[in-house]
Amino acid sequence: MMRTPDAAGLRRIRFARPLLPPLDRVVAIYQEAYAAGRLTDGALVARFEAAAAERLQVRHAIAVSSGTAGLMLVLRALDLSGEVILPSFTFFATGHAVLWNGLTPVLADCDARTWNISPRDVEAKLTERTCAILGVHVYGNPADIEGLTRIAVKHELKLIFDAAHALGAHYRHAPIGRFGDAEVFSLSPTKLLVAGEGGLITTDSGTLAKRLRAARNHGNEGDYDPRVLGLNARMSEFHAALALAGLEDLEDRRARQSHVAALYKARLGAMSGITFPDVHPSDRATFSNASLLLEEQAFGLGRDRMVAGLRSRDIETRQYFSPPLHKQILFRHAGGNGSHHLPETDRIAAGVISMPCHQSLTDEDVDGVAAAFGEVKAAHDPGRRST
Ligand SMILES: *Cc1c(COP(=O)(O)O)cnc(C)c1O
Repeated sequence: MMRTPDAAGLRRIRFARPLLPPLDRVVAIYQEAYAAGRLTDGALVARFEAAAAERLQVRHAIAVSSGTAGLMLVLRALDLSGEVILPSFTFFATGHAVLWNGLTPVLADCDARTWNISPRDVEAKLTERTCAILGVHVYGNPADIEGLTRIAVKHELKLIFDAAHALGAHYRHAPIGRFGDAEVFSLSPTKLLVAGEGGLITTDSGTLAKRLRAARNHGNEGDYDPRVLGLNARMSEFHAALALAGLEDLEDRRARQSHVAALYKARLGAMSGITFPDVHPSDRATFSNASLLLEEQAFGLGRDRMVAGLRSRDIETRQYFSPPLHKQILFRHAGGNGSHHLPETDRIAAGVISMPCHQSLTDEDVDGVAAAFGEVKAAHDPGRRST
């Protein structure tokens, strides 16, 4: 029998909860590095990079200390100057990496159906100062890579993907990781593969890979006279051990998480005023977040009241990515005259709810959350309210 969300003793439904590999598996991998006295950027990091490159079918994988550091270093190593076009509908770290490099962020709108950066709006935002496009695979749903690549090639721009959510995603049946000039994954605790903290840059370019290996180590290529401005963005051996241990059952976790996301769509997708982002039939999304769009007019209840109703039933949600970048202090005046016209981003950000979606949730949990969703709506239904 389905548990009712109001029943006493129902466990709190947390928004995120990483399924970590057994500690003894991590320790068994780490032991070797520890015994050898090599604690950072050693054999385990190299092993993790090789395993990741093979899985993602890309020539080079460079492990770094975080996804954000990876994005910062890629933009630096590509020697960019001028404007970078990125979506407003993303996590702010995407934009921070642009600002850290002294580049000018120009925010583009998203596609109404996929919620990913719109190639048409990217084209509209091109100027003679544009040097790069920084796309994002939002919730691990591949962006329109073909459309963006066409623009990048035509205008000789660099193309980088923030693939923080997308480890295990496929674009037209090929793993995300080899597209554009480089892709950058995050291995922080809310992502599908967890290194504690960490990031991974992938690229087919040997020249870029070499610069990035130097850049993550203060820019030092070995002659103590750095030519690329670097950082200490090395990955430690312990973090690599954790990532290697997690890699073993990544596929199971991804499948489980996709199942949870699909259940939400099956349970809630038919309600009037509720939509989910489209995934291309030849693509595979990771559903790092199971986000839905609640449109108040059609649904009959506002997003914030739904969120509050779920919270009162001990169900945690988030609003990724609301407010979008163009409503945040650091970006409000970014990119030209400061007047942003991003209607799709505004529409989606106004109604987005990211539902609890992780590998520890049972089908029963998801059914309970979906039932609670229906109850919150029913409780506010004007037709049912006594006057
Ligand atoms: C998590 C995330 C990042 C940052 O990754 P860290 O490893 O936490 O630095 C960047 N972009 C997006 C879209 C993210 O979700």
